[in-house]
Amino acid sequence: QKQEWAKLVSEKTVTADGHHVELAANIGTPEDVAGVLKNGGEAVGLYRTEFLYMGRTELPSEEEQYTAYKEVLERMEGKPVVVRTLDIGGDKELPYLHLPKEMNPFLGYRAIRLCLEEQDIFRTQLRALLRASVHGNLKIMFPMIATVEEFRQAKAILLEEKEKLVTENVQVAESFEIGMMVEIPSTAVMADVFAKEVDFFSIGTNDLIQYTMAADRMNERVSYLYQPYNPAILRLIDNVIQAAHKEGKWAGMCGEMAGDSIAIPILLGLGLDEFSMSATSILPARTQLKGLSKEEAAQLREQILSLSTEAEVEALVRDKFIK
Ligand code: PEP
Ligand code: MG
Repeated sequence: QKQEWAKLVSEKTVTADGHHVELAANIGTPEDVAGVLKNGGEAVGLYRTEFLYMGRTELPSEEEQYTAYKEVLERMEGKPVVVRTLDIGGDKELPYLHLPKEMNPFLGYRAIRLCLEEQDIFRTQLRALLRASVHGNLKIMFPMIATVEEFRQAKAILLEEKEKLVTENVQVAESFEIGMMVEIPSTAVMADVFAKEVDFFSIGTNDLIQYTMAADRMNERVSYLYQPYNPAILRLIDNVIQAAHKEGKWAGMCGEMAGDSIAIPILLGLGLDEFSMSATSILPARTQLKGLSKEEAAQLREQILSLSTEAEVEALVRDKFIK
């Protein structure tokens, strides 16, 4: 099986009926790019930049960040790289920010909420990203967006920093896509509204599932409620993809679910454009997708979305798509 996968390293991901989907990788550091290329990743679908900020005693400088972003973009040789702005908080703390302890860190002051408040931190990162944008195919996305105002504000700050750099005669890519993570249920529900303002969505199921089911993604006691195939989750995902396509935008997924062999036929049928996963899952996913028909998967969409339980969804997928 390993040999079969190896043959697919330099191939595009095409389904049995000839549809292309993009298989991308999630990375945390520039060093991870080697694994992406070795495993045939067509893009970086999620660069978690918070690792640049962690395990140290002070914020990384603009220069330090610029070097890291440039390295990732260059090593990817023009393939798309979706960089997520700082997603700190929840389980990822930065002791040197001295933030007060919270009762519910996952529902608290984190990610874009913090960046819109501590704008120095945010603007430094955005400048580093903008300067790096000339070195490859950069796309920028904001984490933990809950409201349209947050997205507008984050985008406005980004464009402000871009204008400043242009005035300073610093080279910046003329255009780059600006998108957002869909990981808070409010944004999945309001996807039609967001779709008019974003260039793309990336669905973060790790958080979307925990917030939809109100089940902590790290709490074993309630892990039975952490259900990726629950029709509630699938309907939200469907809503996001449909809304994106209506506006001519693309929708990807960068949560663990994107690399899951039960989820893949469902997501293909719902029309997901980009699947971003750990690098080692790419070749198995490509092999699976080569054997699936998108038309057939799409025909099951309504039936799947009308089921009542996660177990029913899984049974149907196994019956139709898993040999
Ligand atoms: C997610 O929430 O699905 C996601 C990809 O982000 P993270 O796992 O970093 O929270
Ligand atoms: Mg998340």
